[in-house]
Amino acid sequence: MGKIEFCNLRTINRPFDTSIREGLESILDSGRFIGGSHVLQLEKNLASTIGTEFAVGTGNGLDALKLALKALVLNGFLKEGDKILVPANTYIASVLAIIQARLRPVPADIDPCTMNVTADTLERSMEPGVKAVMLVHLYGRAAWDSDIKQWVKRHNMVVVEDNAQAIGAMADCTGLSGESAMTGALGHAAAFSFYPTKNIGAIGDGGAVTTGIPEIASTVKALANYGSDRRFHNIFIGYNSRLDPIQAMAVNIKLPWLDTINTSRRSNAAILNDGIRNLFVEKPLFQQPGLSMVWHQYVVTIGNGRRDEFRDFLNNCGIETDVHYPMAVFDQPCLRNEFGANPNVNTARRLARSIVSLPVNQTLSAADMQYVASAVNEFGP
Ligand SMILES: *Cc1c(COP(=O)(O)O)cnc(C)c1O
Repeated sequence: MGKIEFCNLRTINRPFDTSIREGLESILDSGRFIGGSHVLQLEKNLASTIGTEFAVGTGNGLDALKLALKALVLNGFLKEGDKILVPANTYIASVLAIIQARLRPVPADIDPCTMNVTADTLERSMEPGVKAVMLVHLYGRAAWDSDIKQWVKRHNMVVVEDNAQAIGAMADCTGLSGESAMTGALGHAAAFSFYPTKNIGAIGDGGAVTTGIPEIASTVKALANYGSDRRFHNIFIGYNSRLDPIQAMAVNIKLPWLDTINTSRRSNAAILNDGIRNLFVEKPLFQQPGLSMVWHQYVVTIGNGRRDEFRDFLNNCGIETDVHYPMAVFDQPCLRNEFGANPNVNTARRLARSIVSLPVNQTLSAADMQYVASAVNEFGP
């Protein structure tokens, strides 16, 4: 068995190589290098895939989050200084977007099984001034259920989804509008990232906001383009964060394959789930009724301070692993002075020391997955 790579972007993009090369050539020939039909088409495709009325392209996922939050402020859903709950186990982009939108992040702990927030962990972190919650569908698992929905409604919360890791995932109950259970259509606005390693990745940076609220869509659109609503007319202190047409082209080519990609990841995860039997390795929660996760990461837990030993062991078997993430986000140097003492995030802290992401991406075969499972099973006392 050759080396099992965690995420080889050459291999991931190989099925789309020819189409993307043709797309690059046609963009070069067209002379249309900003905006244009590829971006409009992507916005249309994404909205119809997710089931929201609107989708607006942005330069990356961080900006998608930041502009969605800014748009909620500019349209009176939130005001500057409002607090927003955000899970302590997430990529730092979730928190940076909140701070950059002049809102205040409040850490919420995660459930050790789903590794996402629950109605319970949210309630435990509630404090005066909290007006919103950012739900991060981490690892491709929807952070949404009927308890969270009830909790959100009871507190009249604004809901922003960080859907960077969960494009195509489904929750086990419908979102606030009652129409769709797809992540990205559950709350007031949602952010997507097309960073190359995501389940649907571009060939550079890209992102998008989905929403059912017309003013949020038009505000994000304007904010991403210098705050301009029409040419040389600027209504907001805006940014330059437009979705690049080359990236839109690449995502348009890959988006029709979303189900195929996610189905492969699901069957790879199923092979790991069936194959791994090791008392020292805790598998991720596999099935929840109706919940359809898209396995951006397959994250196991190794206790007793043996995480690094486990990773070395797999590395010697030719299996690459990674850790998402090695530090609870509020313990990062830039955040810990303000948030580090927070006692509410002990589960996130504990997991940060014991989690390992195993390879699960769609380019890996069933045989690869069986090899990973049997290697994991050989990790001993
Ligand atoms: C990747 C990611 C982002 C940020 O996306 P970029 O496109 O890299 O800016 C935000 N949140 C989460 C959870 C992510 O995984």
